Amino acid sequence: MKIGQGWDLHRLSSGLRLVIGGIEIESALGSVAHSDGDVLLHAVTDAVLGALGEGDIGELFPDTDPANLGRNSADFLLEAMHRARHQGYRTGNLDVTVITQVPRLSPYKSAIRENLARLCHCPQSAVNVKAKTHEKVDAIGHCEAIAAQAVILLLNDSTR
Ligand code: MG
Repeated sequence: MKIGQGWDLHRLSSGLRLVIGGIEIESALGSVAHSDGDVLLHAVTDAVLGALGEGDIGELFPDTDPANLGRNSADFLLEAMHRARHQGYRTGNLDVTVITQVPRLSPYKSAIRENLARLCHCPQSAVNVKAKTHEKVDAIGHCEAIAAQAVILLLNDSTR
């Protein structure tokens, strides 16, 4: 088995989309990014790449590459999961935390969980989604940024 962790942060600005875990979130503030700015899928992608020892999302999908402009971040995670499966690994479980002052994510948590399970090719029971505020302090607490953390356990059935 292998374990990996990922972390990401994006600035927030008005008039932009906010996509978290592949789910469109109703919000006055959106994520500033080269891609679709999905902070959670970026963190999960880095967790998978970390477990595999395959670097990070910026190495695979540089933000200087026009091909990644506005790109659906599900593409990044699916590529990382493809590499995992190629090495004989499957998702054991995934635990994520989104840290944002606004908006409240509770109405979206089940949809995010369902989508993460789909992208990581595992049952929903293997995925846990947590959401926290930043207690109104620092950049996240002042609604200037959003962050996410992810930990994933990958299992290799042949070496278990
Ligand atoms: Mg990112």
